[in-house]
Amino acid sequence: MSESLPGGALPARNPRYDLLFEPVKIGPVTARNRFYAVPHAAGMTNTLPHMRAAFRGTKAEGGWGVVCTGYVSIDPSSDDAPLPYATLWDEDDIRSHALMTESVHRHGALAGIELWHGGGSVMNRASRIPSMSPSGTAWMPTHVNFMGHQRPRRMDSHDIRALLAMQAAAARRARTAGFDIVYVYAGMGYLPYEFLLPQWNHRTDGYGGSLANRVRIVRELLEVTHEAVAGRCAVALRISLEELRARPSQSAPSEAHELVSLLGDLPDLWDVKMDSSPTDCGPSRFSPEGSHEPVIDFVKKLTTRPVVGVGRFTSPDTMVSQVRRGVLDLIGAARPSIADPFLPLKIDQGREQDIRECIGCNICISSWHDSVPVRCTQNPTAGEEWRRGWHPERIAAAASAARVLVVGAGPAGLECALSLGRRGYEVTLADAATELGGRLRFETQLPGLSQWGRVLDWRRGQIDRLANVSVYRDNRLGAADILELGHDHVVLATGARWTPLLYSPLEVPDGELQGANVLTPDDIAAGAKPAGPVVVFDFDNYYMGSALALHLARGTQPVSYVTPAGHASAWGIMSNEQPQVHRALADAGIGLFTHSRVTALTGGELLLANLFTGAPWRLPCATLVVVGARLADEGLYHQLTADSAILRQAGIGSVTRIGDALAPGAIVHAVWSGHRCARELDATAPQCALRRDAPLAAAG
Ligand code: ADP
Ligand code: SF4
Repeated sequence: MSESLPGGALPARNPRYDLLFEPVKIGPVTARNRFYAVPHAAGMTNTLPHMRAAFRGTKAEGGWGVVCTGYVSIDPSSDDAPLPYATLWDEDDIRSHALMTESVHRHGALAGIELWHGGGSVMNRASRIPSMSPSGTAWMPTHVNFMGHQRPRRMDSHDIRALLAMQAAAARRARTAGFDIVYVYAGMGYLPYEFLLPQWNHRTDGYGGSLANRVRIVRELLEVTHEAVAGRCAVALRISLEELRARPSQSAPSEAHELVSLLGDLPDLWDVKMDSSPTDCGPSRFSPEGSHEPVIDFVKKLTTRPVVGVGRFTSPDTMVSQVRRGVLDLIGAARPSIADPFLPLKIDQGREQDIRECIGCNICISSWHDSVPVRCTQNPTAGEEWRRGWHPERIAAAASAARVLVVGAGPAGLECALSLGRRGYEVTLADAATELGGRLRFETQLPGLSQWGRVLDWRRGQIDRLANVSVYRDNRLGAADILELGHDHVVLATGARWTPLLYSPLEVPDGELQGANVLTPDDIAAGAKPAGPVVVFDFDNYYMGSALALHLARGTQPVSYVTPAGHASAWGIMSNEQPQVHRALADAGIGLFTHSRVTALTGGELLLANLFTGAPWRLPCATLVVVGARLADEGLYHQLTADSAILRQAGIGSVTRIGDALAPGAIVHAVWSGHRCARELDATAPQCALRRDAPLAAAG
């Protein structure tokens, strides 16, 4: 599919958005518009150079004026392994990054590189070089990713000179690799940031004490970077201002104000952000679009240099407002540029309604924690551009005149039907329910999850415009119906169901509690009204347990939350949700009990056992809601495939399960599964074909 409308006609850009397409001068270079894909981790290290180049290049193709890398280490003394970080240490690394700059330049965008030294936040697990920080303190010593047994060493004056030399050398390599914008990164707990805060920086030399001293390292890093790129690249400063904004200053409204005044026009670009991933990349459950504004709104007043910032911006009206109100010059985006790499082009072409808006679920961020290439709930092609050849806007035309029946219109079925429809197949999409959306019908009504409805809204809107996709609601199909319909291919996206299975000491779902007062999320979705006191027992560990507890606490009955894990929504640490889940449970008056498993429900009491000691304890409980294991709804699949002769007779060439009906997962899995099925229909390549990326061979 091309980006144009049928017949090639494109609607004109709404003049209201012309402002967003003005060029912006950044030091010696000029961005073609105000759309700025900021640095963000994407799980593609130097071991995956072609995937990385294609992922970033696709954003340039989609109209972003600037496309940046993720964090790139300037020296082996900053080693974040096993997390997926990039390096720019030598000639091979230059060639690896040059693939990305070429790919970005090919589509007319500028390429930016976020040079990075992690200081006391890195463990240097692979290089085994003791890490360093201004005063020998470590970052997040109780956060599992950052726990280590070796504390950083205190930097001496030699280390400071060495750091400046590392930055300068890396900046020269960045220039050779073809980058247009080179960063000094003073944010998020990394080395230059560690100098800015007195909690980290106890130094008594010229780099500690007053703010002017604490900021000196950043000033010197900017100076050596300018010198190294010799006017051929812009020098950007990325800085976290949240903590500094909360610190009083004697000469300014806050230390953040004082710092921006001190550095003023030294950087060619200010890239301003928050201090920790959960506040910088807040999940939509708890953080609205534009949530950074109260912290960074003053920066433009204190510098003549352009300012870029983020805020999960997907609405062009909000973007225009940011510029008109003097908050930002460039609209920064990490997540919205992953969810829709073609966002700028769609605005340019007057196709705002086609923007696949980020839902703020932070699955993309969890990919970094998992050390794998980026995954996105909304955009199944993210990370697959090179290895699978998936383009976010184009898809191969149908390879046959086959008619396809898709059963189930949840995330998997909707994505599959849409992508098959785009390919040109004749598609029938049937669902038992009146409303499309599958699990999203209920889940988007849970506290904080309304924006997840964009998964449904976008697909429903796109399908509505395809004449070759017919949608049938209120149609529960049995095996006999499907055989009678006799489509060439049948895709089953019938979902999964929650079970009341409990949690055994072997850490597997085991043993079921039966009874009218034992419910699952499916029962609540179907309208069950649990009597209180209610206990939610969660070992699914993602959002459902905490979201359901918050939902039930909207009523009058007392609600408790019990989990075998050490935290509520334990997996939510991966998606930046966990800290705010804890706050939300506390605010709602929900009792939180960890390290416990349920053993029985009897006489208005829930019997529990400590996970480690087995010590029994009790909680008052009239209704238990178990949020644990899900099982695929695969009955239809087994009925249909039991006898291949009957299938053949009916003219059905294939029956494929997708999404939760195949393997229950998160929405991201369902969408990806539906997309893959559509891509691979009639494909000649083997089912799992994917190109394997590899580091570039050593030079010479
Ligand atoms: P996924 O996340 O894999 O897309 P969901 O559970 O969200 O799965 O959606 C499954 C959808 O399939 C639901 O909307 C459900 O109504 C529908 N469904 C399940 N069985 C049938 C059936 N036999 N006929 C039609 N629709 C069905
Ligand atoms: Fe947005 Fe979720 Fe995609 Fe990340 S994974 S870009 S938060 S939709």
